[in-house]
Amino acid sequence: MRQGMMACVVASMLVSPAFAKADAEKVVNVYSAQQEYLVRPLMDEFTKETGIKVNLITGDAAGLVTRLEQEGKDSPADVLMTADIGNLYQAQKRGLLKSIVSKVLETNIPANLRDSAGKWFGLTMRARVYFTPKDKMPTKPMHYMDLASPEWKGKVLMRSSSNVYNQSLLSYMIYHFGEKKATEWAKGVVANMARTPQGGDGEQLTALAAGEGGIAVANTYYYGMFLAGKEGGKNNKVKEAVGIVFPEQDKIGAHVNIRGAAVLASSKHEANAVKMLEFFSSEKAQQSFADINFEYPVNAAVKPPSAIAAWGAFKADTTPLEKIGELQPKAIAIMDAVGWK
Ligand code: FE
Repeated sequence: MRQGMMACVVASMLVSPAFAKADAEKVVNVYSAQQEYLVRPLMDEFTKETGIKVNLITGDAAGLVTRLEQEGKDSPADVLMTADIGNLYQAQKRGLLKSIVSKVLETNIPANLRDSAGKWFGLTMRARVYFTPKDKMPTKPMHYMDLASPEWKGKVLMRSSSNVYNQSLLSYMIYHFGEKKATEWAKGVVANMARTPQGGDGEQLTALAAGEGGIAVANTYYYGMFLAGKEGGKNNKVKEAVGIVFPEQDKIGAHVNIRGAAVLASSKHEANAVKMLEFFSSEKAQQSFADINFEYPVNAAVKPPSAIAAWGAFKADTTPLEKIGELQPKAIAIMDAVGWK
């Protein structure tokens, strides 16, 4: 009897250290499509608070997803951080993400900005909106459909269709207006372009400031960076000449998207990974994230930084982003069909 109990104790001793090892190993390995300066300060804070070291590998989103696929279950990565639901959807579709249950994440992050199965979580939010010359600000409510109207012929500045932000915006259009109308819209946008798509979102704003086109589409944080002088150099014409316009304010709300994070199916440090995501969603971290990125916090308890709060509150679309993610393949097919370069 006594011996039996002993055996039992020994067995549990053998089991628990091995199990505890993953947590005892105070490390979390992150693959990030965000540049180091955007995420490192928060990771350092996390390490200071928890003693968990963060190893960071950065790369472009598609490259990281390919790498994770090749590494399979032997991948050292615990967490994937990337912008836009389109990229998170790609990782999810390939079976790379793990479902996480966390009361903290569920409380801190609104349901529409995280996956219902806990496979990814939004950490900051941005809107994809209009920019017009300050001296030609629209006087009536604007809608995304307007971009395709003859009024904007030869005036639309928008980057290429290979960009995930535009793919997500078209997914939003499909979701709200149906495939047929979204296709007509995409066709109209292409017909209205001021030039062959070139450059990133920032370049659409500089082109507009230089007098090209008449309306640009870009994510809010690019504008935030120009206003803060982090883009645009000394002769920051965007700051001088360009104003921001939030579309769909009287209707469905502007298209919003996220920078997000996900715990990987291959993770060997799941507890640490979840702890880091929970930290990123906390009020303190949310404040820093928004300050560094010029993005909106997802945690409703945190106010947007004053630089972007100055644009005024806006109505955001509340459609669950996973619905927008699912429409990505359709959006890409439409873009190809209408010849969006
Ligand atoms: Fe960006």
